[in-house]
Amino acid sequence: MWRKPDSCQECGSLLIGDSLRCPTCEKLLSVTPIRGPSKSDISLTSMWSFRDFLPEYAKPISLYEGNTPLIEVKNIENLADLSLKLEFRNPTGSFRDRASSLIISDAVKNKSSQVIGASTGSFGISLSAYAAKAGIKSQNVIPQNLELSKIEQMKVYGSNVIEMGDSVEESIAEAKRLSKAVNAYLATPENNILAIEGQKTLGLEIALQKEFFDALIIPRGSGSLIYSIYRGLEDALASGWIEELPRIYAISLEKTKSAYLAESLEIEQPFLLEEVRETIKFSKGKEIEIDAQQMIEKALNLSRKEGLFIEPASASVLVAADELIKEEEINPPNSVAILSGSGFNALNIYASQLRDKRKVVWGLSESSTTKFEILNLISEGKATYGISLWESLGRAKSKQSIYQHLNELQEKGLIVLFGQNTKIKEFKVTKKGFETLEKMRNLIDFL
Ligand SMILES: [Zn+2]
Repeated sequence: MWRKPDSCQECGSLLIGDSLRCPTCEKLLSVTPIRGPSKSDISLTSMWSFRDFLPEYAKPISLYEGNTPLIEVKNIENLADLSLKLEFRNPTGSFRDRASSLIISDAVKNKSSQVIGASTGSFGISLSAYAAKAGIKSQNVIPQNLELSKIEQMKVYGSNVIEMGDSVEESIAEAKRLSKAVNAYLATPENNILAIEGQKTLGLEIALQKEFFDALIIPRGSGSLIYSIYRGLEDALASGWIEELPRIYAISLEKTKSAYLAESLEIEQPFLLEEVRETIKFSKGKEIEIDAQQMIEKALNLSRKEGLFIEPASASVLVAADELIKEEEINPPNSVAILSGSGFNALNIYASQLRDKRKVVWGLSESSTTKFEILNLISEGKATYGISLWESLGRAKSKQSIYQHLNELQEKGLIVLFGQNTKIKEFKVTKKGFETLEKMRNLIDFL
């Protein structure tokens, strides 16, 4: 039976709330491995088929998460027979649905009317959908300049989105502050033990679906996925589903300028870094850094050869698998790579790769290109107001559309009015605007 630890295993402090760490000594809390039913007693329909390993809820909030396919690569020579766990087939396109289902079920049990969470996108989208299903309000705190298609998806589910800070660490701090201020349920996975416990069902599921495996290739990100899968495998081991823990390979990115391709991997100080390192060492696995540029090639190749559409960041495991197979470090039929996120969450990145290269730098449309040009002109002081911008752009667009773009740039906080001239509205670029420009310029250089 699942039991929340009531005191810290390290320092003995009593624990209140759902924090992942002991408030006194900061040690990560862990749930004692659970001995559940035998494999043959589980009929897999969703992650709730593992309810013997989960906290009990009278009314679980579910969108049929989990029970994602495990298939073998057939048409890519180097990767042939490697098992792929298709986690992007979850309801909102990522493994985060396993966390949200549990977290929102818990929020409902606690009679919370509002949840607040911080993330770099996938978790936010997921949280928004599950909160919608449960009929409770959700707020997502995200770092600035996150990909638009992710923000739009949160809004589609009715979530309130707050852009705060340059890194997810700042967003996490803000979500924590906000949840106290308005007495809302704190759903941030880095602060909620149930994120780990929900996501661990992925580990249990692989143990159920695959007869034998001795290597798992997992994107590192914040460390949350690796740590969760390990937790699931501990339960699988305690239940006699597996005889040994597999080697765990954690994949992260080299710090290059193409690293922006993987927002979800780009984390300055992974919260669970220490625990993840211990896990990898204990399992006799490795940490592997890869070049982000190779990810997009691998992701496109997977679409074209196997018909699977994943987020570029998720292809990091394929880049690593390729190397590990060449080095004969892993044997493909006994190895599983986790494909964690859907390509639908990264449409802009694909669009910029596939279309005429200079045309799409931001968003999906022609109009985004115009915004970029306008921002550039204002930043360089070449044109700072409507008519001058219209002329600088060769009078190719209507004046009306230039004003529209200026309004939108202003709403996004990328430009502000300045100067004393009351007849002409002059603009200058904000700090956020310059940062956005910088990112877009990097993108163009990169292309
Ligand atoms: Zn402690």
